[in-house]
Amino acid sequence: MITALRKIIQKVHNASDLDSALKLLVKEVKQEMQTQVCSLYLVDKEQGDFVLRATEGLKKSSIGKARLAKSEGLVGLVATREEPVNLEDAFTHPNFKYIEGSGEERYSSFLGVPLIHQRKVLGVLVVQQKERRTFDMEEEAFLVTISAQLASEVAHADATGALVRIQPQKKTRLKEARFSGIPGSSGVSMAEAVVIYPKADLSAVPEHFIEEDEVDGELDALDCALKKVREDIKALQKKTSAVLPKQEQALFTVYLDILDDKALGGEIADVIREGHWAQGAIKRVVKEHVKAFEDMDDPYMSERAVDVRDLGIRLLSELQNTNEASGEYPEECILVGEEITTSQLLDVPSKNLRGIIAVSGSSNSHMAIIARALNVPAVVGAVDLPYDRLHGRQLIVDGFEGLVYCDPGLEIKAHYKQVMEEEALLQANLELDLDKPTVTLDGHRVELFVNTGLMVDIARSIDRGAEGIGLYRTEIPFMIRDRFPSEREQVEIYREQLLAASPKIFTMRTLDIGGDKSLPYFPIEEANPFLGWRGIRITLDHPELLLAQVRAMMIASEGLSNLRILIPMITNVFEVDSCLLLIRRAYKELKEEGYKIKMPPVGVMIEIPAAAYQARALADRVDFISVGSNDLTQYLLAVDRNNPRVADLYESFHPSLLHALRFIVKEAKRAKTPVSICGELAGDPRAAVLLTAMGFESLSMGASQLLKVKYTLRHLTMKDCKQLLKDVFIMDNGEAILAHLSKFFEEKKLSHLIR
Ligand code: PEP
Ligand code: MG
Repeated sequence: MITALRKIIQKVHNASDLDSALKLLVKEVKQEMQTQVCSLYLVDKEQGDFVLRATEGLKKSSIGKARLAKSEGLVGLVATREEPVNLEDAFTHPNFKYIEGSGEERYSSFLGVPLIHQRKVLGVLVVQQKERRTFDMEEEAFLVTISAQLASEVAHADATGALVRIQPQKKTRLKEARFSGIPGSSGVSMAEAVVIYPKADLSAVPEHFIEEDEVDGELDALDCALKKVREDIKALQKKTSAVLPKQEQALFTVYLDILDDKALGGEIADVIREGHWAQGAIKRVVKEHVKAFEDMDDPYMSERAVDVRDLGIRLLSELQNTNEASGEYPEECILVGEEITTSQLLDVPSKNLRGIIAVSGSSNSHMAIIARALNVPAVVGAVDLPYDRLHGRQLIVDGFEGLVYCDPGLEIKAHYKQVMEEEALLQANLELDLDKPTVTLDGHRVELFVNTGLMVDIARSIDRGAEGIGLYRTEIPFMIRDRFPSEREQVEIYREQLLAASPKIFTMRTLDIGGDKSLPYFPIEEANPFLGWRGIRITLDHPELLLAQVRAMMIASEGLSNLRILIPMITNVFEVDSCLLLIRRAYKELKEEGYKIKMPPVGVMIEIPAAAYQARALADRVDFISVGSNDLTQYLLAVDRNNPRVADLYESFHPSLLHALRFIVKEAKRAKTPVSICGELAGDPRAAVLLTAMGFESLSMGASQLLKVKYTLRHLTMKDCKQLLKDVFIMDNGEAILAHLSKFFEEKKLSHLIR
């Protein structure tokens, strides 16, 4: 069974488009199970009913036409029960509904299994047979397994819009379409969409159908790309003619032949004429040729697959360069993509960037954190978003609710204009507190710090009234380069930062890569990156990186004395001891080299449950501790902070997290070590109240949250905060805690701060 399954899934996977994938699926399943019919019904999102999307055995003419209401017929029964329905005699079942013209009348036995993705029924896969019989357990298990695997493919196709496109007769309207995702960064904006794709990655090119009047434009674009690639190859040929042997040079001629209008170039043009966009046409043609070459037994011929793929990538890269309007962005734009990398984000001048929308990610993924740092509204984890059809359209991004509107109508626009005005008013109001200290009504002082990683943050943080930088994520300057920055380069970067914040405290974290933060020039391939080589685990294995970094930090701090060093991802005391040894060694060496520096305070982050329960031992070793609640939450709850599938389980107010946080504070206080928190939680006014009550002395957050937190704390007494903490501490679930917090904020007339 497993071999058959693998074979089918592989074939379906390799299909060049969804239409062919579904056709292949029903054909293969029918053959493997030796049934007379295999059909796939999928939910039509617009009409809410089931439509026959592919069949082997029923009349092909009913594909796209045969429809069943949501709970109609046996298909509807499978969907409502959300489990297989296995019948020996389908006709006698009370739910049986004959679909006119489908040819179904001949088949007695019926086995239908639901296609479920993230608790939602997307469709039903059915096999039918003439003779009366019940399908056996093994057959049922086979179909269930196939449909479980197929479900995520269908959901993905749905998200990228491929699903609607396989019915060309039914043009989809995106007008006023609304898509939901996860709030990534609060705020609302309205602007033109700029869609970005991973560069020169053939597999990432989505299917995109074009209108007839767009064909010429795409052909022209292809022509330009072909010309440019041919020129590049000829130039390369010329350049290497003196150094490469004749035999090797023949390769260039092969390349030019492949690109000829009568070969690959011509085929791609034909696919464009069939209605595909140029990038998709390249992907399709190249994929077919690569497969054909790879299947050849002759080693010389099978190696040609590499050449074709290489040419495909070159062509794609050319097209993407011309399409990307050479780095020019509309005056106001919203970046949209499956995934948006830090460097893509920072490519857009901040004056143009109005919003960010990503299909992947969750509220605490690093992309969302950067969006908050830039104070740009963002929606992440928008898994249903047909993002590749949004380029150039007007969008509204609602980062409060996690909603995206495409081509909004007048009413929606008017509503959001009002929201934007209210938000501006709120900000203006909050700014009245800018220079006031964060003191509760009964005189308890809390320090508010900010998290940064970009130069723009520093300026914003200081003018938001921050008392210092509680977390500077040094990985960002590493991410936007194509190699590790040298010690000298790092000195320059850090000096600029320390100077801008001076005399305020500046907490610099050592490099925290791994997990969802990768460096293009230092790839880490792991099955479980969040449980793998991350943060201090990497830099302790590469002391040369850690030493260069802490040396650079200390050199940069000369004469300023506002530096604090923070170590991320600590799991045990040995890591702390080893780090301290290296930092002290670097300090000693620098002193010997003549630098006039002071040994900076060194702290550790508590982000792993093991560290939380050893808070005392860690606190005894260092000058301060800072809780990284983003990671602590993900590890305590075993929920990947980046995965939209489990975003609902990432509960920032889970009782276990609150108990762990209070435990850490108590332990730190016993060790008389200052304790702060620098996860996103600290920027949530509701959490800030609880954290203050627990005894956190300073809270570090994204700059955009600072004034909201300050306003909240200035309008409450410590007694209020402590009572609230007491109330929620006895609750056994995050929902009840959140409901109680909302009620409290309403009573205190602070609910406008937690929109
Ligand atoms: C955290 O984990 O809470 C944290 C502040 O670090 P990062 O978000 O960069 O992992
Ligand atoms: Mg972390």
